[in-house]
Amino acid sequence: MEELTKDMKYYNYYYESYSAVLGGFIGEYYTEKKDENEKSFEKKYGVKVFSPIAKNYSFSHYDDFGNSRSYGFKRTHLGNDLLGSIGTPIIAVESGKVEHIGWNQYGGWRIGIRSLDSKRYYYYAHLRKGHPYSEGLEEGSTVKAGDVIGYLGMTGYSIKENVNNINIPHLHFGMELIFDESQFDSANEIWIDVYQIIEFLKKYRSEVYMANNETKDYERKFDFMESNSFE
Ligand SMILES: [Zn+2]
Repeated sequence: MEELTKDMKYYNYYYESYSAVLGGFIGEYYTEKKDENEKSFEKKYGVKVFSPIAKNYSFSHYDDFGNSRSYGFKRTHLGNDLLGSIGTPIIAVESGKVEHIGWNQYGGWRIGIRSLDSKRYYYYAHLRKGHPYSEGLEEGSTVKAGDVIGYLGMTGYSIKENVNNINIPHLHFGMELIFDESQFDSANEIWIDVYQIIEFLKKYRSEVYMANNETKDYERKFDFMESNSFE
């Protein structure tokens, strides 16, 4: 067998893979203090990512990564389907920048968010017909881990926009690793099985409330900041 060296193409992937999957999951952050009249923050260290499903909303899932899908063309399922009620607030797992937002034939109303270190791309699909996203979100927007980004629905599997063509309301959640920009949106995309990550994140849920009675938009209850954005 060939010896592992830094010059090998796969060596770097192997070496980088832990930080590519989990980098950004743990670190210093600031969280809004609860039970105080004036908004104030406290510094913490630990897990700083959230479940994509808001606190107090139920969902079910099983490890469906790699199952076959037949709409359009035969392909494998590169994510995890979280079954829940229409309108359930969907949460940004990690802080990042909105890279894609809008209609996609397969994902319906979908949103793609790239982590701040650009190594992880989070894909949330089949959002609610009529009112898929939190108000004001657009390509280039920055979101914080725990922010409400949209609402669970059943859109997709249609060239025509804003169509419910999915049988069971669910969030399709996907996570892609990007070691090298050339892999992004290519035949060499690396999507990982996030089932265990979703299980782990059940302990880290973002609490929400209806912040706008007219638009019916929800927002997170307790603010959060990455430590490097607080200075
Ligand atoms: Zn799916």
